[in-house]
Amino acid sequence: ALSMSFYNHKHQLQDRVNEDGKNRRKCTNCYTCISSNKSREDARKLGKQTYTYCGNCPGQPQMCRECFESIHNK
Ligand SMILES: [Zn+2]
Ligand SMILES: [Zn+2]
Repeated sequence: ALSMSFYNHKHQLQDRVNEDGKNRRKCTNCYTCISSNKSREDARKLGKQTYTYCGNCPGQPQMCRECFESIHNK
């Protein structure tokens, strides 16, 4: 049987914050999508910068809201 803790681990978009304030980084999913369709250079230029990440995806990837919704609402 699944333990109760399984149900508490919902995917949630969270702000990534460090000592200096918010930590803005490139969305991992945008980067991956663009670099598979175009070049790595385009991915660096076009990838969305975001403060948010999913704390319950493996590796806690940086993730913009659009990607979060498209990944988790399947
Ligand atoms: Zn994204
Ligand atoms: Zn997630």
